[in-house]
Amino acid sequence: MGEHVHVRVNRGLSVTEDGQLVELSRCPCGESWTRSYRPDEGAPER
Ligand SMILES: [Zn+2]
Repeated sequence: MGEHVHVRVNRGLSVTEDGQLVELSRCPCGESWTRSYRPDEGAPER
């Protein structure tokens, strides 16, 4: 009972001083997440 499936609503992107890309997400229940991307990793092209 009471299982809640979080819905991650994208709240936008921001860039830190280090140059990292940070994605902000939030669920209507109040839970929030931040996800950072490093430009050095996972580059799709060389
Ligand atoms: Zn939720």
